[in-house]
Amino acid sequence: MPGIGCGYGGVWRAGRRQGRERAGGNRLLGRGLRLGRIFGVPIRLDLSWFIGLAIFTTLSHDVWSPRVTGLAAVALSLLFTCAFFTSVLAHELSHALAARVLGIGTMEISLLVFGGVARIVSEPADAAGEALMAMAGPLTSVSIAGLLWLCSQLVGGWPGDLIALLGLANLVLAAFNLLPGFPLDGGRVARAVVWRVTGRRLLATQVTAWFGRGLALLLIAGGGVAVVLLHTPRYLLHVALGLFLWNAASQGERAARQVERYAPHDAFTHLKS
Ligand SMILES: [Zn+2]
Repeated sequence: MPGIGCGYGGVWRAGRRQGRERAGGNRLLGRGLRLGRIFGVPIRLDLSWFIGLAIFTTLSHDVWSPRVTGLAAVALSLLFTCAFFTSVLAHELSHALAARVLGIGTMEISLLVFGGVARIVSEPADAAGEALMAMAGPLTSVSIAGLLWLCSQLVGGWPGDLIALLGLANLVLAAFNLLPGFPLDGGRVARAVVWRVTGRRLLATQVTAWFGRGLALLLIAGGGVAVVLLHTPRYLLHVALGLFLWNAASQGERAARQVERYAPHDAFTHLKS
């Protein structure tokens, strides 16, 4: 089941400027359906999410065979995909709530083609805050995975299969986002460590963004080789995910440069914390 759970869930973007740029500059990713608010945070279903729904449903519908086949399998995959994106929403909400604890608001949470994004209004003031916000998402996903695994032990038949697969998807979501490339959650933690050690947030961002680009290249190359050797287009999803990650790393680094430009003494302020 390549692709299932390989979410983009742990990525959040900082800065009002970037939020405005994305909303206005990226037509596909800037439009969507407002779903309401949870804990006061606006939730938006990006139009690209429907592409994700189609991809995840197509890739997972043969998972239920031979117990469930045909249209029933497609319906089960739709249910699985919607439940998975609900898990992604829980992951993003935990980032937003951790940000709130630090006194930072969240503009909105969007569900996208490969997962979700929580748009917080400003960067954390110090490395400890950065690490706390970054870890909130994976900890939530691992907790959900544990609960679902327990439930799957109590439920039989296709509901048990669905719950078990959802638990696994949450585990993969946490693991993928813990990879140490910025702007994934693991990359955010790595950035917090480098920031804490050097006292230089921009340097920490640049170093970990290159790790992010390295991971993106691995995904692109691995997906491309798998498509050629295994003669199946399903690994194109890894290539697309890699391109997405490369773009996110570059955008995150650019945003960090802007923050540095507008607050040139930030790095020195944080040395004291
Ligand atoms: Zn996360």
